[in-house]
Amino acid sequence: MPEETSPTSNYTLSQKNKNTLQFIEDVTSNPDQIQQQVLSQILSQNAAAEYLHRHRLSGQTDRHTFKKLVPVVTYDDLLPDITRIANGDHSPILSSRPISEFLTSSGTSGGERKLMPTIEDELERRSLLYSLLMPVMNQFVPGLDKGKGMYFLFIKSESKTPGGLPARPVLTSYYKSSHFMQRPYDPYTNYTSPNETILCPDSYQSMYSQMLCGLCLNKEVLRVGAVFASGFIRAIRFLEKNWVSLCHDIRTGSLNPVVTDGSVREAVGRVLKKPDPKLADFIEFECSRKSWQGIITRVWSNTKYIDVIVTGTMSQYIPTLEYYGNGLPLVCTMYASSECYFGVNLDPLCKPSDVSYTLIPTMAYFEFLPVHRNNGVTSSISMPKSLNEKERQELVDLADVKLGQEYELVVTTYAGLYRYRVGDVLRVAGFKNKSPRFNFICRKNVALSIDSDKTDEVELHKAVENAITHLTPFDATLTEYTSYADTTTIPGHYVIIWELNLNETTRIPPSVFEDCCLAIEESLNTVYRQGRASDKSIGPLEIKIVENGTFDKLMDYAISLGASINQYKTPRCVKFAPIIELLNSRAVSSYLSPKCPRWVPGHKQWGNVN
Ligand code: AMP
Repeated sequence: MPEETSPTSNYTLSQKNKNTLQFIEDVTSNPDQIQQQVLSQILSQNAAAEYLHRHRLSGQTDRHTFKKLVPVVTYDDLLPDITRIANGDHSPILSSRPISEFLTSSGTSGGERKLMPTIEDELERRSLLYSLLMPVMNQFVPGLDKGKGMYFLFIKSESKTPGGLPARPVLTSYYKSSHFMQRPYDPYTNYTSPNETILCPDSYQSMYSQMLCGLCLNKEVLRVGAVFASGFIRAIRFLEKNWVSLCHDIRTGSLNPVVTDGSVREAVGRVLKKPDPKLADFIEFECSRKSWQGIITRVWSNTKYIDVIVTGTMSQYIPTLEYYGNGLPLVCTMYASSECYFGVNLDPLCKPSDVSYTLIPTMAYFEFLPVHRNNGVTSSISMPKSLNEKERQELVDLADVKLGQEYELVVTTYAGLYRYRVGDVLRVAGFKNKSPRFNFICRKNVALSIDSDKTDEVELHKAVENAITHLTPFDATLTEYTSYADTTTIPGHYVIIWELNLNETTRIPPSVFEDCCLAIEESLNTVYRQGRASDKSIGPLEIKIVENGTFDKLMDYAISLGASINQYKTPRCVKFAPIIELLNSRAVSSYLSPKCPRWVPGHKQWGNVN
C-alpha cells in the first residue's frame, strides 16, 4: 500500500522532477528525428503483421515507403481485422506482439463501442505520460507532495470477446493494472481514495466511500479532480444529496450499511478510524448553507486547483465549476484516448480557453491532415469519407505543422493501428522547443455530448426518425428539429426541439411524446444508454415542442449572423446561447423520458463476465 512504504526524500523527489522536465526538453527539441525512430521501431516490431504485408510492406521501415503504401483509415476499415482478433484469431494480424486486451472507446461504430487492440507494453507508455504530469505541475504549484489529491476515479463494467480477450475502457484497464495498484509510494499519487474504493464495481458504493474518505481527510487535500469535468460535478452533486448520511458516518465513526462490499468497508475503516463530531459539525454547517457557491474551497480549504478536463465539449461545465470552486484554477493536464495517450499541458495554470497540449513524440507516430471547417452556423449530416489522392498528399508530420492551422490527428501506434484517423480536430497554438502545442478544437461529427457519450448527427437523425413513427396514428408530422445539450441540470441531458405539423382536431396525449423521448434514447448508441442506465451520468432526454414558424425565425437569425441563404440548412444541433434562448422562448410544451433505455454490458452479441 502506498501509505505504508517510506516516503520519498525531498532530494529524490526534486531529482526525479528535474529528470522528468529534462526528458520533456529533450524529446520536444528533436521531434522529427524521434518520430522517425518511433515509426521505424513500430514497423520493425510489427514486421510480421499480416496487415502490413497486405499493403506490400515487407520489412521496410522508412517514412517514405510507409506513406506510399499504407492507407489512411478509419475504424470501419479495420473492423474485419478487429472482428477476427475478437473472435480468437491469434495470428499476428495487426501487431506481431500478442493483443493483450481490447480497450473500449467511447467513440462508437454501428451503435457499439469501438474496440481498440492493445498490447502489454502500452501500459508502460501510458504510465510514462502520467509520470510527466506532476513534475510539470510542481513548477507552478510547489508543495503538492505535502498533501493528498482527492480524485474521484471509477472503473466500468467489462466483458470478454468471444475469443476470450477482456474488453474494457482504458482507465478501467489502467486502475486494475499493477502499474496503478502496486505503485510504489509516491507523494504525487497519494490519493484520499483507497484503491479498493476505486476498484469497487458498484458505482454508488464507490462514490459514497470515495466522498467519505475525501471528507475525513479534508485538511490534507491539496488538489481535487476527476478525469472529465462532468464526473467531478457529479461528485459534488452526490455530496449535495448525501451529506446528511456522510456526516452521520463521520460523527459516529461508522460506515453506512449501504456500502456492503467487504474490501471497501475494510479500506474505509482505515480512514474513518474514530468518531469525529467536530468535523461532522463543520461539514454539516457548510453543506446546510443555502448557497453552494465555493463549496470546494469551504470544505477542502487547502485546495489549490481543480484537476479536470474542460477542453472540448467539457467546456460547457466551466461556469458550474467556477461556481463550486470560487474561481480556483481549472487545470487540464493531459490529452489521451483509447488508441494512444497523446500529450500534456505544459502551462497548466493557463485559462481553460488557452489550454494547449504538447504531443510527446515518443508515444506514437503522428500525422496531421489539414481541415477546413465551415463557421459552424450551418451544419449538415455527413459520414467520414475516404481520402482522395490530393488529401493523402496533404498529410504532414509532427515537425511540419503550421501555426494557426487546424488538423485532424492520424496515429500509428505500437499496438498496430497504422495511419488511423482518431477523429479529433486540433489547432496549432504554438511550439515547445520544436514540438507543436495544440488546442483541442472538437471531435469530428459529434453533435451532442454530456459525459463520455458522443452522438453524431446521423445517429440523432435515425433516432428521431424512429421516434416520430409514434406520431403517425395522430396524423402529425415533424416539420423540423434540432437539439442541444442542456448542462444546467445535473446530470445534463439532451434536449430535442420539434416543430410539428398537427391535425387540429386530434389531440396527442403527453404519454405519446414521452414514448417518443424513450424511443430516441433506445435508438442511441451504447455509450449513451450506459450513461443513462448504469452510470447515471446523463439525465432523461427531453422533447420540447415549439410554435409553428420557430425554425423560420431560426433561419432568419442565422442569416442575420452571416449564413448564406442559398446554403442554409437547419443545424441539427445548436450551441450558441442566443439561439437556444430563441428556441426555448417559443416552446409550448415539454416532455421527459419516463424511464431509462435498455442497456447491457459488452457488445450486443457477447455475454458479460461480471
Ligand atoms: P476514449 O477513446 O473513449 O478514451 O476517448 C478519447 C477522446 O476523448 C479523444 O479522442 C478526445 O476526443 C477526447 N479527449 C481526451 N482527452 C481530451 C482533452 N484533454 N480535451 C478534450 N477532449 C479530450
